[in-house]
Amino acid sequence: MIRFDQVSKRYPGSDEALRGVSFEIAQGELAFVTGHSGAGKSTLLKLMAAIERPSSGTVLIGNQNVSKLRPRIVPYMRRKFGLVFQDHKLLYDRNCFENVALPLYINGVTGQEAAKRIRAALDKVGLLGKEKAMPITLSGGEQQRLAIARAVVSRPSILIADEPTGNLDETYAADIMALFHAFRQVGVTVIIATHDAHGINSIPGKMLHLDHGKLTVS
Ligand code: ADP
Repeated sequence: MIRFDQVSKRYPGSDEALRGVSFEIAQGELAFVTGHSGAGKSTLLKLMAAIERPSSGTVLIGNQNVSKLRPRIVPYMRRKFGLVFQDHKLLYDRNCFENVALPLYINGVTGQEAAKRIRAALDKVGLLGKEKAMPITLSGGEQQRLAIARAVVSRPSILIADEPTGNLDETYAADIMALFHAFRQVGVTVIIATHDAHGINSIPGKMLHLDHGKLTVS
């Protein structure tokens, strides 16, 4: 369960990015965060993942109050999350297999167990045949899917994606949305931010619409 209670966020020297935002997302639910550019979508996702902290209000992930987490605890909390951000930060000097391996190696999973999980994640996003390929040789859509494989390889219970279909043509975008829907169906909580409502009508989900930092839930 993710709960925001009267959350506001102001970055130093700027206007409020979020203003008194309250909502709840149940475990296994899929939610879209929509709104114009600058509406506060990325900020909302960053608060969920404890990348940013609220200026006021409470962010609860499960029973944990993210605002009150000791810095030492944050990396452990973050293991619950798979994050797909816009600059997907692939390692261009490593092949696809190695890119997906990274979060596992960081968590101490190596060897056969790691290899099995990496192949399963690549398979899920349709890239099993590209294990040895370097990311630069992949299309934009394939690179997005690789970033998703890396985000899900540690079996997160919450998947957060910021504009995962940005700059992709409609076919790729539909594939990626279908992929998120599939994760949801196996019990993963999925939160997707997108500035364009196009293409999300086909997938049922909670809508969190932001307008200049204010939320309307439908
Ligand atoms: P969106 O994802 O909907 O485009 P953001 O959450 O990125 O919106 O931004 C919301 C507002 O907060 C914008 O006005 C943006 O300029 C501001 N903002 C975002 N990040 C920062 C930051 N690190 N420092 C200062 N202002 C920021």
